[in-house]
Amino acid sequence: MKILNFGSLNVDYVYTVDHMVQPGETLASQKMEVFPGGKGLNQSISLARAGAEVYHAGQVGEDGLFLKKLCEENGVDCTYLKEIPGKNGNAVIQVDQSGQNCILLYGGSNRTLTKEFIDEVIGHFDSGDLILLQNEVNLMDYIIERAYEQEMIIALNPSPYNEAMEACDLSKVTYFLMNEIEGGQITGKTQPEDILDVMLERYPDAKVVLTLGKDGVVYRDKEEQCTQGIFKVKAVDTTAAGDTFTGYFLSGVLGGDPVAEALCMASKASAIAVSRQGASPSIPWKKEVEETEL
Ligand code: ATP
Repeated sequence: MKILNFGSLNVDYVYTVDHMVQPGETLASQKMEVFPGGKGLNQSISLARAGAEVYHAGQVGEDGLFLKKLCEENGVDCTYLKEIPGKNGNAVIQVDQSGQNCILLYGGSNRTLTKEFIDEVIGHFDSGDLILLQNEVNLMDYIIERAYEQEMIIALNPSPYNEAMEACDLSKVTYFLMNEIEGGQITGKTQPEDILDVMLERYPDAKVVLTLGKDGVVYRDKEEQCTQGIFKVKAVDTTAAGDTFTGYFLSGVLGGDPVAEALCMASKASAIAVSRQGASPSIPWKKEVEETEL
């Protein structure tokens, strides 16, 4: 079985500021750093570091070639990662003294996927292969349709949840990996149990992973329910906790681990990611997860 992650790759420009820039104000920033980002990229790196064989499909612009290199260095197969003219997707992020952030997104190369490109990529995969999706590229509804026609197993992290997600036929999805906010947006419920009830009522064959931040995670399908608490760490930066979880959980269950074991490994990997700064750089390799005592 092959794993295809069809998703975003971003250039994150992070500005450290005294306060968020106000309308009409010109503000000098104290520091500017450039980081790789995008849920797609983070999840591919998590899958690869967890030991899965993963193909990343998507597009990078002229200023995003380092993102492709980073994926390759981590063992992600970039055969279907296209280099296109023009700007890569990016985010301009202001972080103020209190650690609050403001994010301005530009879709760029992530949002100019064409149906022809999607057809071509999906044509290389077979019945029973898995496709992982987040909602940061365009034509989400089309990708889901095509993957379903190809009889691929569809895993979705519906993030961010918006109109593009509402246009998708979610009954075609097998694995839902989402946090409480996204679960609430899909179901209209606020309590985890209620969210899971509605999900399984609506999608009886679904396998739902609902992450609850510091409260851990709960999994349900029509046969079993499992919960897993967090591994306690000093939280330094929670960015990419969910992306780390997604990569490790899928790598585990697709590799044949029981759900409870995959939840445990994914929780431990996420806790390690939370204990250090950054997005993809904070994602641990499997060996570290296995060797770390928490
Ligand atoms: P993000 O958007 O920041 O990537 P998310 O909102 O998608 O994250 P969360 O539910 O916050 O996802 O976290 C995913 C998992 O990471 C949790 O289920 C938990 O296992 C782990 N985790 C999150 N926060 C902490 C923490 N403070 N300490 C230890 N583990 C944590």
